[in-house]
Formats: sequence, structure tokens, C-alpha cells
Amino acid sequence: MIRVLSNCHTHTNYCDGISSPAEMAKKAHEKGFVSLGFSVHSPLPYENDYAISENRLPLYLDEIAQLKAEYEGKMEILSGIELDADSEMDLTPFDYVISSVHQLHSDDGRIYAVDNTPEELIECVDQMFGGDALAMAECFYAVSERAALREGVHIVGHFDLISKFNDEIHLFDDRDPYYFALARNAIYNILRKKPGMLFEINTGAMYRNGKKNPYPSSQMLSTIFNNGGRVILSSDAHNAHSLDYAFDDALAECKKAGFTCVFRMRKGAIEKLEF
Ligand SMILES: [Zn+2]
Ligand SMILES: [Zn+2]
Repeated sequence: MIRVLSNCHTHTNYCDGISSPAEMAKKAHEKGFVSLGFSVHSPLPYENDYAISENRLPLYLDEIAQLKAEYEGKMEILSGIELDADSEMDLTPFDYVISSVHQLHSDDGRIYAVDNTPEELIECVDQMFGGDALAMAECFYAVSERAALREGVHIVGHFDLISKFNDEIHLFDDRDPYYFALARNAIYNILRKKPGMLFEINTGAMYRNGKKNPYPSSQMLSTIFNNGGRVILSSDAHNAHSLDYAFDDALAECKKAGFTCVFRMRKGAIEKLEF
């Protein structure tokens, strides 16, 4: 099995992570990583408890810049961002951008996180979609497609995040052809407009919530492969101990879907790793 030795989706105490950037970098270096990317949650235009605030962004960028210098010649450090669909901002200071959708908005201004608690997701389905989970999925994949197609986006983050609690609450059957068609259409449209787009295989919910498989599902990964998409591994690490959590499982999923290589983020480019 190849070793990826890189993770482009990590959070620190600048947003909702636990470890400092320096602690993350130290651990990554001990693990022999060739590159480590930080992807702070982008500032949001409303109250929340997980994203960085706009005024702390310069501090974040400064600290990552210091780490870049400190690890020069030993490990590449990259300053990325996890760009929320609700954030509008200048992306030029960042080395790369991951596009993510974490919440849906009702017409009357309520905001529901799809990945916070099972209860909040159920409330979202009930209040916004009259109990129709497939209507929620349709909305989620439409927002995800638009977000991924924004200029400056390099990676599609946790593509089927709405499946996070599904092992537990069974809101929908992810093998239901109608559900799958919603995700498939979004994948088609993203890859038609951005050929070769990178989708992350994200193991975050496996260590944080005991989810059995990474995002996206095996079936979606096959669709990404069949439409010329490319994949990059991440653990959506919120602490220094989960930097390469379940990467072997994620690689096995890639192979099963037909991929013969994965990519990792390097300074100024992505690098191909063949199996
Ligand atoms: Zn996220
Ligand atoms: Zn994240």
C-alpha cells in the first residue's frame, strides 16, 4: 500500500480544531509527511461557533507563513481554506481552496447545519422540506454543485456530508436510485464544467462520529472515476492525532472505485501517487 504522507484538510484552534498549527505541524513531521495543508473554516456572515472571524484571518496567515519558513526543506506547509458556500471573500491569499456546504437556509431566514447533530438535520428536513429527506438532498446537492463551481475552488469537500448521521437515523437510503441520481447529476455537472476536478475522500466522520465509510460513498466515487474526476485524501483533522486517520481504508475505497492513483497537495502543484 502506498503512503500518502499528506493531508490538505485540517483545522486548528483558529477555528474549531483543538491543536495549534505548530502542534499539527510537529506531529505531521514526526509521521514523515511531505506536505501539510491547513484549511481554516472561512468567516461566515452570521453568528456561529466554528468558523474563524474575519479579523483573525491575518493572524492565521501569519502563523502559517512562519511555519512555512520553520519547516523549509523538511516538510511543505500550505495555507488553504475550507470555503463555506455561505462565505464571500478574496481567495488570493490562500494556496488552495476546498469548497464545502455545511448548512441550508430556509426562505424565512432560518439556518440549519446538516452536520451538527442528527436532531438538527431531522428538524431541517421537517421544517424546510415537510419531512421529505430527498427534497433536502436535492437542495443540498444543488447548493454543493454551485459552490464547487465557484471560481478559485480546487477541491470538492465532503461531497455527501448529509450522510453523516445516516447509519444512525436512516433519513434516506443512499442506494436509493433517486437519491443517487441527485448526487450523480451534481458530479456530472461539476466535472463537465471543471474537467478533472479534485474530490476529497474524507475520513473525518470516521474518527469523529464512528461513521463506517469515508465521504463520498463508494457508488459516488465510482461515478467520479467514470467521469474523469480525481481524488485526494483527507481526514478533516481537528486534532494532531487524526492527521492520517483511516487513510488505508480510504485508499482501498479508491481502488475499489477504479482509481489507479490519488493526488496530494504540494507547493504550487498537485502530485500524482500511483498505486
Ligand atoms: Zn467541512
Ligand atoms: Zn473541515
